[in-house]
Amino acid sequence: MIKDIKMYTLVCDGCGKDVNEDTPYSCWNEISYLNDLADNESWAKDGDKDYCRDCFDYDDEHNLIIKTKEQRHQNKKKK
Ligand SMILES: [Zn+2]
Repeated sequence: MIKDIKMYTLVCDGCGKDVNEDTPYSCWNEISYLNDLADNESWAKDGDKDYCRDCFDYDDEHNLIIKTKEQRHQNKKKK
């Protein structure tokens, strides 16, 4: 028989990037793996939201700053 299983992935609340985008995997069966992966990729957690490295920064006091769409765009231009 075929049985459904529940899988999880994590996407950036800023730009929609999938945390698995640069990995050979597309999803995970344990949320804890996703949290490890997000840590490895230096993603930030803000309450129930998650942000990829392109979508946040820290200010001088190490406060999390979520970039606006315009700021992300400027960053890409510089590269
Ligand atoms: Zn992002």
